[in-house]
Amino acid sequence: MKDIHDVSKKASKVSNLLQSLSKCSRGAIALLLLLGSACSSVETNITPTAGSKTQNPTQNLSQNQDKKVILTTFTVIADMAQQVAGDRAIVQSLTKIGAEVHGYEPTPSDLQRGQQADLILDNGLNLERWAEKFYGNLQDVPRVTLSEGVEVINIAQDEAAGKPNPHAWMSPKAALIYVENIRKALGDLDPVNASVYNSNAAAYGEKIKALDQKLRETIATVPPEKRFIVSCEGAFSYIAKDYGLKELYLWAVNSDQQATPKQVQNVIEQVKSQQIPVVFCESTVSADTQKQVARETGAKFAGVFYVDSLTTPGGVAPTYLDLLTYNINTLVKGLKNSKQ
Ligand SMILES: [Zn+2]
Repeated sequence: MKDIHDVSKKASKVSNLLQSLSKCSRGAIALLLLLGSACSSVETNITPTAGSKTQNPTQNLSQNQDKKVILTTFTVIADMAQQVAGDRAIVQSLTKIGAEVHGYEPTPSDLQRGQQADLILDNGLNLERWAEKFYGNLQDVPRVTLSEGVEVINIAQDEAAGKPNPHAWMSPKAALIYVENIRKALGDLDPVNASVYNSNAAAYGEKIKALDQKLRETIATVPPEKRFIVSCEGAFSYIAKDYGLKELYLWAVNSDQQATPKQVQNVIEQVKSQQIPVVFCESTVSADTQKQVARETGAKFAGVFYVDSLTTPGGVAPTYLDLLTYNINTLVKGLKNSKQ
């Protein structure tokens, strides 16, 4: 990355000239050839990236060098942190979009990113089963657990019974606690920008509350006795409690990723006896077993939920608020379109 860094520095020196050249003109080509790279690749290199504290020369370089780097363990809380940080800090997610977070195995470059971060935000409640080992290899990097203060729901069944269900962020109500923890963590880390973090957090909190109300109204259009949510992972316990949904799942947490025959049989029996018309699975795991449940019960496999990861910007759940909206709309559409 040395070259990119050097090019970035050089590019910043000629930033006035580059700004006046909106396209890759002959003059810019000559200039960029001097920098030892082709026009397009240099343009890529000087585009703000999430990968470095110092590689944002298209914005004000000196400002970016002062920005704190916040590393989160997965994409959903990265979005929450970004909403609070605004343009005052650089937020990154350790796991990529679509990645399975529970059983993730950090790479050597992840350790490097962890060590370079100014702050690490994690979910806690044993979501990141790899966290202790990961942190054991880092020195003096502060970290904050965002689920701190949430009213924990324990897993009700299977091997993990009695342990905390880690998916607290799936409740908008609990998400407000996450946002408060982010606000405080960023303000403590970077007091100069604390007032910005405070107002960003307040505005984001209002958006979450407004969406919570909207989703409650959406759920209310389904008769109470039909409010079932059948998923692969038991990730909906928090939002199910908030919205009066009855939850049914194949396995408690994704670290299992495989249902035992007994678990499958239990879901099949319940879907049949309760005449549940639709079943779902999450985006980060295989839906094969749930499709088998659908075949054996006559229920419809009615789509994918987003829980442990956002989608890419072009997808249906590029932000946390989109994720909640998509899941509830998909569920309600499925339940309402059913004939049963
Ligand atoms: Zn999960």
